[in-house]
Amino acid sequence: MSQLAVDTADDGRILDLRREPGACAGLPQGRADGRYRCLACGGRLVLQRPASPASRFTPRFRHGGAPGVDQCPASAQHQADVQADLTTMLALCDQLLRVLPEACCRLRLDPELAGGRWEIPPALVVRRGESDVAVLERPRRLLAPAAVARRLLQVRTQYGDATVHWWLFDRDDPLHCDVAGTVNVQPHGTTIAHPKVRPTPAQRQIAAAGATVCWLISDTVLLPYGGHPRSYARQPGEDWSGGMASWRRDWTISHPHPADRAAWWGLVPQALPALGRQPGFRPVAALNTMAALERAEHGRERHRRRRAREHAQRCPPQTAPVQLAATAPPLSGSEPLEAPAAPKAASPAAVAPLSPSSCEPPRQTPPLHGRRRRFTWASLLPRRWRRRQTRP
Ligand SMILES: [Zn+2]
Repeated sequence: MSQLAVDTADDGRILDLRREPGACAGLPQGRADGRYRCLACGGRLVLQRPASPASRFTPRFRHGGAPGVDQCPASAQHQADVQADLTTMLALCDQLLRVLPEACCRLRLDPELAGGRWEIPPALVVRRGESDVAVLERPRRLLAPAAVARRLLQVRTQYGDATVHWWLFDRDDPLHCDVAGTVNVQPHGTTIAHPKVRPTPAQRQIAAAGATVCWLISDTVLLPYGGHPRSYARQPGEDWSGGMASWRRDWTISHPHPADRAAWWGLVPQALPALGRQPGFRPVAALNTMAALERAEHGRERHRRRRAREHAQRCPPQTAPVQLAATAPPLSGSEPLEAPAAPKAASPAAVAPLSPSSCEPPRQTPPLHGRRRRFTWASLLPRRWRRRQTRP
């Protein structure tokens, strides 16, 4: 910890003399009016620099006290927590610098939080040029609504309302990723499975505030859209009974941010390198996929309503026996649009909706045994005459 400090005179920039050995050259040494603070205990630190360029002295921060004695009063556990947070954030910083070598990445902490047990690690501020600023969070612990609200407000106040504010969660962290299966979708004609998650209250809060929630796995970012179960309202001329009942259930999307009342969030993958090339971290590929999902949704509704009208024409309500539909063959690949991967209804008819034509009564099939004899006029004659006729 002796090479880490918060610079209160530079918006809470975290100085790391191991990664930036030359940084201390431009900084005032000594106590410097208390501008350097310890991250673990919040105490004022002293910057010690080499006396000359030839000196082998390693620059460091030291707690004020007796010469030669430097001990942080924070507990070992707290120091380890602080170090773990910084390690996580610095790993993200290094990952971004591989994608954006020209960017300026700085870890920043509200100086008031130095020495306390913060819930949210220091933010990573990425600058490209004068106006392109993105603030990235990488939470590790559970988030309390008050801490989230404070951080959201702080970022808006410090960097402006339009600042890109991303909260990146670990895809493999069960605290922040409640997996809820998959949903099959066809955004571009081919069926693919998107992971589904149940968002935490904090993640809903972040999305509602207009910031971006996402999950990080390796070099891929997973961006969410909202999934809202729905049931088509019956329109004149439609019949959703019998085998059409399960086709009535569908879902609708909310994007680019999931709406507050979404039942689940589907996740669209977006390559991190492609993300880094866009101004403001705009996830163009993911946004295009979400727009395609909305178009597919409209097409899906048109298709299903057409089938419901056909069903109504073929099956007048008074002559449509439900039990016949249950024995009809399931609809095969004629349904071109996506449906929820795991419908809750237990009946097979709900999982694989039945063809509207299934309401037609079954054909009268002939008996398997007792082949019908061919009709002949001779069969009408008395039996003895028939024998006489067949003799040569
Ligand atoms: Zn300390």
